[in-house]
Amino acid sequence: MTHWGNEYKTLEEYENREISVETTKCIFCGKTGRVEKVKRQDWITLIWTPPRERPSIQDLMPYLSIDEREQIISGIHPECMPKEEE
Ligand SMILES: [Zn+2]
Repeated sequence: MTHWGNEYKTLEEYENREISVETTKCIFCGKTGRVEKVKRQDWITLIWTPPRERPSIQDLMPYLSIDEREQIISGIHPECMPKEEE
């Protein structure tokens, strides 16, 4: 019998489990969104640590794409992001 139940064998396994997170409303379409496969512990660090004290999201979630990281921070969906003309 463990505190974590049958689903997790170790604390590390629990913390590294990949979750789907809801992102804030996109300023372009007004809808929330989801980003998949975020490690639980990284998400907890992101939302509970003051911005000045936590690593940048690039360092925290290097396994996500730039678009996914942008959506987590701003809520803007990759498909809603205005394309910049060079
Ligand atoms: Zn959108």
